[in-house]
Amino acid sequence: MNTIFKEVLHKGLTQEVTINKVLIDKKSKHQRIQILDTPVYGRILVLDGIIQITEKDEAAYSEMLVHPAIQVLKNPQNILIIGGGDGAVAEEILKYNFVKKIDLVDIDKEVVKLSSKYFKKINKNALNNKKVNIFFQDAFDFIATTKNKYDLIIADRPDPIGAGISLFKEKFYKNVNNILIDEGMAIFQSGVPFLQKSETKEVLKHVNKIFKKNGVFFTVVPSYIGGFMALVWSSNKVDLKKNKLINRKVKIKTFYYNEEIRKGAFYCPNFLKFV
Ligand code: SAM
Repeated sequence: MNTIFKEVLHKGLTQEVTINKVLIDKKSKHQRIQILDTPVYGRILVLDGIIQITEKDEAAYSEMLVHPAIQVLKNPQNILIIGGGDGAVAEEILKYNFVKKIDLVDIDKEVVKLSSKYFKKINKNALNNKKVNIFFQDAFDFIATTKNKYDLIIADRPDPIGAGISLFKEKFYKNVNNILIDEGMAIFQSGVPFLQKSETKEVLKHVNKIFKKNGVFFTVVPSYIGGFMALVWSSNKVDLKKNKLINRKVKIKTFYYNEEIRKGAFYCPNFLKFV
């Protein structure tokens, strides 16, 4: 008899997903980790009861965290992924041969180990790629202490609960800015505005104070229920919306991203215009 996975991220709203098979259900030092096979979303990663990524719709998220930014940056070689333990973002970045090094900082070694084994369809073994260096620590501490500088920083972070809370503090954004090169760019996962408008507003408030240029763009990830998801971009020199695409000649295979989707992603509904 199939069981049901119930996600309650937003008060008064439950997402129920039929489970075919429970592959993993364990507690790491940091969180409960579940890996479930489901008929609707395929294989899914759940951390502390919240869906993090699914085989069905991960491309709409990982491709939009990566390609809009990489397409406008001059030859980004050193990239930092904050979180991202499932390897999906790393896999997208590895589509560009000019990338030399990807530092990935995830607090949970278990997530990386299990994702390497169970999410090959999503990460295509990116977590074991020689360009990828993995650090197991709180990314808040890593960015406060690293001497490295990055061309692109992607905060593939969870919601601001549990281990993720440190990745939403103002100091976090200041430290991100300190390790970004002048012509660099940072992209922050910033919630589902219909249900988490304060999260999106909070991110924009912080980055407005710290970076010279920033803005919000959108993607649709059905398993992050509540409508479209907001991604916030920040830079001191490069404008994600206005700058021309300098890497469009790099042929990349994508499931969701293309140049029409990119253009459309910047159109903002009224209720967010004043965010
Ligand atoms: N796509 C998801 C979302 O939008 O909610 C995020 C996916 S990714 C799996 C989130 C990763 O962040 C997890 O692997 C988790 O272990 C990691 N993480 C949570 N808090 C962290 C922290 N403070 N420092 C580094 N990694 C953290």
